[in-house]
Amino acid sequence: MAVDLHLHSRFSDGSDSPTAIVDAAADLGLTGIALTDHDILDGVPEAAAAAKRRGILFVGGTELSVSWRDQSMHMLVYFLEPGSGPLQDRLGALQESRHNRNIEITSRLAGLGVEITFAEVQQEAGSGVVGRPHFAAVLMAKGHVASVAEAFDRYLAAGRPAYVPRMRLTAEEAIRLARETDAVAVIAHPHTLQLRSEEFAGGFRELVDIGLGGIEAHYSEYTPEMRNRIAAICADLGIVATGGSDYHGTYKPSLAVGTGTGDLRVPDEALHRLEEIR
Ligand code: AMP
Ligand code: ZN
Ligand code: FE
Ligand code: FE
Repeated sequence: MAVDLHLHSRFSDGSDSPTAIVDAAADLGLTGIALTDHDILDGVPEAAAAAKRRGILFVGGTELSVSWRDQSMHMLVYFLEPGSGPLQDRLGALQESRHNRNIEITSRLAGLGVEITFAEVQQEAGSGVVGRPHFAAVLMAKGHVASVAEAFDRYLAAGRPAYVPRMRLTAEEAIRLARETDAVAVIAHPHTLQLRSEEFAGGFRELVDIGLGGIEAHYSEYTPEMRNRIAAICADLGIVATGGSDYHGTYKPSLAVGTGTGDLRVPDEALHRLEEIR
């Protein structure tokens, strides 16, 4: 039996409602899912209700962009409910910083002769947090670029002219806040980090010492060999090998709920072990 612990809904930069994601997961026969919208928990109640109706396990969570050794790292945090709490109380500041960044991206684009309004981007995003994929969608719809990839390559990616950084927690802060919130922090898609393979386990040990609960091993962009290798490193470190599709609906059309690019299968032991170590 399988689960999917990395999913984005329209409350951040996915296109589907939480209910539609739960339905897709249940239809596929998954036994549990986690919703991990960027910096926001507003989709959690809807997803929890839908999961209860469909009889699958559900965990509320979020995906944070954090800094680690001068690098950008993505951190998934599981077992979060909306409301107040040590971690929840920081999400408001992260959202505000996002908002200011989005205004700045809009004016940088204008300075580059690319006329899109922030209202158009907000309209694209709906009621959730606005992210760069929404800018990419508007740039495409208005004919400024031919693809999402071109939008990032020309304008939005780090180092490109409309890139604007935003406030980040450090990896250590995120892990500590997660622990204080009775939640579990997990490193997402570690292949995006610059890390020599011999450093891989040792580099994470200091994070494990302060409470890191897992690393995402089951991820579409990894070969089966890499998934096994990361799972073995997790076993060595005494933490959980997690995984998920990173589904974003139409914003990343190559990824499906549960199966990612096709061959993903996250064992449901991943979810059970997260519950155990919580
Ligand atoms: P933001 O949270 O606004 O910084 O945007 C992050 C989102 O942009 C995540 O869903 C990323 O997967 C996506 N993203 C980042 N870089 C790229 C890229 N080069 N091409 C496509 N999507 C990207
Ligand atoms: Zn995203
Ligand atoms: Fe990510
Ligand atoms: Fe993600």
